[in-house]
Amino acid sequence: MSVRTTPQTDGAIAPPTSYRAAVVHKFRSPLTVDQVPRPVLMPGQVLVKVEACGLCHTDIHAAHGDWPVKPSPPFIPGHEGVGLVVELGPGVTEVAVGDRVGMPWLGYACGSCEYCGSGRETLCLAQKNMGYSFDGGFGEYAAAYARYVVKVPATVDPFDAAPLTCAGVTTYKAVKVAGTRSSDLVAVFGVGGLGHLAIQYAAIAGGRVIAVDIHDEKLELGRELGAEFTVNASKEDPIEAIQRLGGADQAIALAVSPRAFEQAYGSLRRGGTLVFVALPADNEVTLPIFETVLNGITIKGSIVGTRGDLGEVFELHGAGRTKVIRETRPLETVNESIADVEAGRVAARIVFEL
Ligand SMILES: [Zn+2]
Ligand SMILES: [Zn+2]
Repeated sequence: MSVRTTPQTDGAIAPPTSYRAAVVHKFRSPLTVDQVPRPVLMPGQVLVKVEACGLCHTDIHAAHGDWPVKPSPPFIPGHEGVGLVVELGPGVTEVAVGDRVGMPWLGYACGSCEYCGSGRETLCLAQKNMGYSFDGGFGEYAAAYARYVVKVPATVDPFDAAPLTCAGVTTYKAVKVAGTRSSDLVAVFGVGGLGHLAIQYAAIAGGRVIAVDIHDEKLELGRELGAEFTVNASKEDPIEAIQRLGGADQAIALAVSPRAFEQAYGSLRRGGTLVFVALPADNEVTLPIFETVLNGITIKGSIVGTRGDLGEVFELHGAGRTKVIRETRPLETVNESIADVEAGRVAARIVFEL
């Protein structure tokens, strides 16, 4: 008889030795749903039985190897994973077995650098990203760092919590970075997985929201979620339309097109702020220096949000202040789901059910 020293599972059913996950083997090739071995937990990690994981545009960029810093195949994407903690690795005190947690893009940070120490952990140079620099939520289980998961309150549906874990916290933070105050005019460029939530957070902050997109059904959704004005950029010039309203105090660029960033810039009033959020594969944008100086324009980049921000996002949702538009699909649809997102055929967010 052998005696095994297993990690702490508090009597829960032991996780299997392998599980299903969607794997990127090669950039720009279809993902395959494989049996993968369960990871060995490192100090500070927990094993999470994934219930839901949203499909973010970043996962698609990861699978394509679009960005200057690339993940290394084979890898499992997914940074909107939500599930139950089933096992604790060495030294974990932050969560317990049975807790429901969200596993965000900021999967790990050092906790002690200048950025971590000043509440700017998303700028940590030692950060690791879920579904990018280590395996993510597109699987039945995932290993995550206990210190960087965020507990999901019982009042939040796990299938809503998944999109909130990236799309929600990213746009919530972008509105904070924009500095929206009551009566500000806020232009949200791109009404998709991110934009539909940005509209709601801008409205919660007191802003009057203009939704800009190229699909009428998305603009209709924007209006239902609180946009006071809508502009179809395929039918009219959003710069002219927004300047007719007096110009935007803040514009939030969420569409993955450099042209939309330029239009967002042009829609600002004097003293306005443009927030860069989306990451188009085409990494160049052309903005004028003269007008930026004379009009006192501020341009800011905003990357996801902290654990604190995500906690606030969950709290707002639990209080019934936000609505998540999503459709649930099996993980096996991963490739067609990616094609649907790329073609703009998805209302807001696809959430995989594990
Ligand atoms: Zn994301
Ligand atoms: Zn750090």
